[in-house]
Order: sequence, then C-alpha cells, then structure tokens
Amino acid sequence: MSKSLTLPRTPSAEAGTMARSSLARVWREQRPLVKMDLCNLCGRCLFYCPEGALAGGREILANLDFCKGCGICANECPARAIVMQPEYTKDPGLIGGDE
Ligand code: SF4
Ligand code: SF4
Repeated sequence: MSKSLTLPRTPSAEAGTMARSSLARVWREQRPLVKMDLCNLCGRCLFYCPEGALAGGREILANLDFCKGCGICANECPARAIVMQPEYTKDPGLIGGDE
C-alpha cells in the first residue's frame, strides 16, 4: 500500500487567534529566515513547528502572525537552511517571512 504525506496547514485567521498573533509580534525576539538555495523541500520543519506557522510549496515561508520564534525549525532542518534572525533585522539576501 502506498503512503501519502499530509503536511500541516498554516493556521487561518479565525476568531480568537488575532489577539494571540498580535502578541507574538510584541514579544518574539527572533524570526526564522529560510535560505531557499539550501532547502531541499523535505518538509521536516513543517512537521516540527509547534505553531503550524510554516507553509510549504515551491518555497518555505513563515507566517509571522503565528511564529513565536522558538527556533525549533532551524534546529530540525537537516540542510541548515533556516537561520534565526533577531527581530526587526532583515537581510535582503535571505528569503522568508510574509511581511
Ligand atoms: S527542514 Fe530545511 S530543508 Fe527541509 S523543508 Fe524545511 S527549510 Fe527546507
Ligand atoms: S521559530 Fe518556532 S514557531 Fe517560528 S516557524 Fe520556526 S518552529 Fe515555528
């Protein structure tokens, strides 16, 4: 029997989640940035993210409304394609985030 892989979905902006997402922007100290030139789209980071804040497809994107900056995705990435950056620091050479 063939196996199928169902990846977690990015949380939707349902009632009751907006206050939480707004808080994340206040206290998050770091954010993940994905180097797509290193990423092999294995999906491991999507499975390990406790917030379901990562979305896959042709690239891995972090939904910063829900990411709490824990760094688990970076630690679990076998290709070391995710680096944690201090909040408010943006490197135009890296791809990630949705803002
Ligand atoms: S774990 Fe790393 S290599 Fe795998 S999809 Fe995520 S960013 Fe890409
Ligand atoms: S830093 Fe934590 S919450 Fe944010 S995307 Fe990575 S695993 Fe998810």
